[in-house]
Amino acid sequence: MKNYFLFPAIVLLVVFAACGHKMNQPVATKSTTLEKLLEGNTRFAAAHPLHPDESRQRIGEIAKGQHPFAVVISCSDSRVPPELIFDQGLGDLFVIRTAGNLVGGLEIGSVEYAVEHLQVPLILVLGHEQCGAIKAFVEGGEAPGHIKDIVDSIKAETEISAIAKDDKDRLAHCIEANLKHVTLQLQEQSSIIREKMEKGELKIVTARYDLEKGSVTMLK
Ligand SMILES: [Zn+2]
Repeated sequence: MKNYFLFPAIVLLVVFAACGHKMNQPVATKSTTLEKLLEGNTRFAAAHPLHPDESRQRIGEIAKGQHPFAVVISCSDSRVPPELIFDQGLGDLFVIRTAGNLVGGLEIGSVEYAVEHLQVPLILVLGHEQCGAIKAFVEGGEAPGHIKDIVDSIKAETEISAIAKDDKDRLAHCIEANLKHVTLQLQEQSSIIREKMEKGELKIVTARYDLEKGSVTMLK
C-alpha cells in the first residue's frame, strides 16, 4: 500500500529536479520582434488573446519611460487597431494611424522619434482588405473636403499608377502597391531611417490584415 503512494511522489520529485533549471528561469521569449507580433496575431485570430501588459503594475512600469518594441503604421479604420490584432498591451507598440496608412512629414517625424530616440528596431507597415481610402481612389468620383487630399495623395503614387485600370483585382493590388510606396517613402524621405537600415539596426516589413479571418499575412 505504501509503495502505491510513494511511486508517484518519487516520479514527481525526479520530474521537478529535471525541470528545476528551466523553471527557475524568468519566462522570457526568444522570439524576434516580428515573431512576437505574429504570435500575438495568431492568438488574436484564434480567439485566444492573452491581453498582455495591461495590469496596474505595467502602468506603473511604463510611467518611468516607454520602450516599445515595434512601430506599426496602419490605417485609421476602426476594425484594425494594432494593439488588439497583435495582442499587445501598453507600452508595446508605437503606432501611427492615418486613413490608408499614408505618411507625410508629420508621420515620418513620429517614426523617426521612435527609431532614433526609442531605438525601435522594426517598422511594420500594415494595410488591410477593403481599405476605404484606397477604395475611394479606385472607385473615382469627387471626394469632399480634405478627403480629397487623401485620394489625391494615393493618385500621385507611382506604384499605384502602374496598376492597370482593368486589373480584375485592382483594389487588392492597389492596397499592396500603397504599402510598397509607403515603405520606399520612409527610406527616401528620412535619412534617419535610411542610416539605421544601413547599419542593420532597423527593418521595414509590410503586411496585410484580413478582415474576415482577423489574420495578418506578411508581404514581400
Ligand atoms: Zn483602410
